[in-house]
Amino acid sequence: MQELKHFINGAYVAGTSGRFSEVRNPATGEVIAKVPLATPAELDAAVEKAAAAQKEWAQVNPQRRARIFMKFGALINENMDRLAECLSREHGKTIPDAKGDVQRGLEVVEVCMGTPSLIKGEFTSDAGTGIDLYSMRQPLGVVAGITPFNFPAMIPLWKMSPAIASGNAMILKPSERTPMTSLMLAEIFKEAGLPDGVLQVVHGDKDAVDAILDNDTIQAVGFVGSTPIAQYIYGRAATNGKRAQCFGGAKNHMVIMPDADMDKAADALVGAGFGAAGERCMAISVAVPVGADTAEALIERLVPKIEKLKVAPYTAGDDVDYGPVITAQAKERIEGLISSGEDAGATLVTDGRGLSIQGYEDGYFVGPTLFDNVTPDMEIYKQEIFGPVLSVVRKDSYEDALELIQDNQYGNGTAIYTADGDVARDFVNKVEVGMVGVNFPIPVPLSYYSFGGWKKSAFGDLDQYGPDAFKFYTKTKKVSARWFSGIKDGVALNFKSID
Ligand code: NAD
Repeated sequence: MQELKHFINGAYVAGTSGRFSEVRNPATGEVIAKVPLATPAELDAAVEKAAAAQKEWAQVNPQRRARIFMKFGALINENMDRLAECLSREHGKTIPDAKGDVQRGLEVVEVCMGTPSLIKGEFTSDAGTGIDLYSMRQPLGVVAGITPFNFPAMIPLWKMSPAIASGNAMILKPSERTPMTSLMLAEIFKEAGLPDGVLQVVHGDKDAVDAILDNDTIQAVGFVGSTPIAQYIYGRAATNGKRAQCFGGAKNHMVIMPDADMDKAADALVGAGFGAAGERCMAISVAVPVGADTAEALIERLVPKIEKLKVAPYTAGDDVDYGPVITAQAKERIEGLISSGEDAGATLVTDGRGLSIQGYEDGYFVGPTLFDNVTPDMEIYKQEIFGPVLSVVRKDSYEDALELIQDNQYGNGTAIYTADGDVARDFVNKVEVGMVGVNFPIPVPLSYYSFGGWKKSAFGDLDQYGPDAFKFYTKTKKVSARWFSGIKDGVALNFKSID
């Protein structure tokens, strides 16, 4: 079993705390590595080194910094297979899905190749006689990224890329459940020419996170994870005077109108509900058909598609639809929630509990589960299940469907399936959700937009990646400059009499 290390100043450094967390292959349950959990002193030491490196990094002109991102992007492509294998092994998602995870992070690296034009300031010439006004964007210094288990490449890349491209140094604290992909990315970034110390990967749990939040040198914290932790981190970071953007959990609804293309809606629901075992913050976990006929037509199409899904380890071939959930505890919790839904009176249409795969009996597999007749008072509706469980909440009208979404505490993503432009426009305008799809199940904005939810899905200001990230990771200096008339008026050579 491999003992992982922190990645400090461009080299692997063993942890000194004596505390470790196990990294398991969720398909087999086998421990594949142990990851050291940093002490506050180890964290502080990494920050001090990052602060020294950042001073020089900020002096590298933006075009040269961008060139390192060009090399980084090329190397990520070259290492795609290795990255995907590492990611699938520690996370459990299929190889094509792991490549998608890397790809959606790579797209943010690609945007960072254009950093010089993204961090330009503003200029007003002659705002008054001899007066120019301008603004310039400067890096914050050392910043931190704290990331979840479910996108081991994409989210670390979302955090580190705009931060570093803007001239900051980053302390990345990846999920202790999927830390290996981050280490591989740090090695590749170094190979691309990133100076040592600009990216420090420090592993840890709450102790390391609290040390980040209390460290005076760290200027900003970008967090992605569950809502209670997002809210906690936002509060503590803000109390300590840091910038913070903390993205949390979700419960994403898809409204299916009676005029929707029912086959396409069912296909979209199966992909968005069960892909990556439902462990996506943009997964659709609630389908809201409008009208009883719509509900019947939808379920009739969903069931055969769900029954065909192949749940298996990523190594079982290209036709695997999704793999295990992340831990034994996650499987137990999801199965417990399925039981609670049944007890509460929801109709269990397909039951994913008790799935065992031959040869992988110790893996954490949960079969695709479909509930009908779910109501908002049930735990399966109230909680983010973060597993392959899709709930159908029937509504009689568009207005009732919209109200359901407005009343939900989360506001990450949502979608509507319809053939009617008028209802789609109304939905887009009124819905209190940050990312909206029209006949589009997982509306993750491309990397030149920015990503972020509303309500309890995000705390703080500005979204992640895209133009917002460059604002988040820079501070704006506003300059008013006046130059009095001087040498251009010439030097007086004539002999002047003194009056
Ligand atoms: P998590 O909140 O358990 O962990 C996220 C990070 O916080 C990890 O690095 C972890 O080490 C740290 N952490 C955990 N407990 C902590 C504590 N008590 N104090 C301080 N730090 C702590 O989340 P997860 O299970 O890794 O990820 C799944 C969650 O992330 C889901 O809720 C999902 O919706 C959410 N998510 C949100 C987005 C988004 O952009 N909104 C994207 C991906 C995932």
